[in-house]
Amino acid sequence: MNAFGSPIAWHKEFADTLVLYCADGRFVRQCEDFLTNGLKVATCDHFVVPGGAGWLVLDALTLHAYDAAREHIGFLVQAHALQRAVLIAHEDCGFYRHRFPHATADELFQAQIKDLRQAATTLRGWFPQLTVEMYYARVEGERVEFVPVQ
Ligand SMILES: [Zn+2]
Repeated sequence: MNAFGSPIAWHKEFADTLVLYCADGRFVRQCEDFLTNGLKVATCDHFVVPGGAGWLVLDALTLHAYDAAREHIGFLVQAHALQRAVLIAHEDCGFYRHRFPHATADELFQAQIKDLRQAATTLRGWFPQLTVEMYYARVEGERVEFVPVQ
């Protein structure tokens, strides 16, 4: 393959926003579209892992993930002086289905919303300079909708 030249301009300045969402490829392009065209974020640092915000909720299953998240997000926050964090959970998340194999879809939704709020509290505790926003990506027919979470 020859070199590929992306038509997307390179940003010399570091981003001031961190986005944290699940690695599920069915939602990645929609999340990027939401950030670019919904929130008008020119560029942002990414922490994209299976389960997303679930890594910031400490329990026996996430102990190592929690520590890793603190270390790696901490690096970005310090190195790039980040000011804002955007957390996105999504419908039909395999990380949550694995954690709660007997839960109904509504119970999974409730667990994800609870984790988003806990993850926001965790982030604010670690890095008080961050403002944190939360969203839930739900499937509506052939599209994905991003709903703010309070
Ligand atoms: Zn997921």
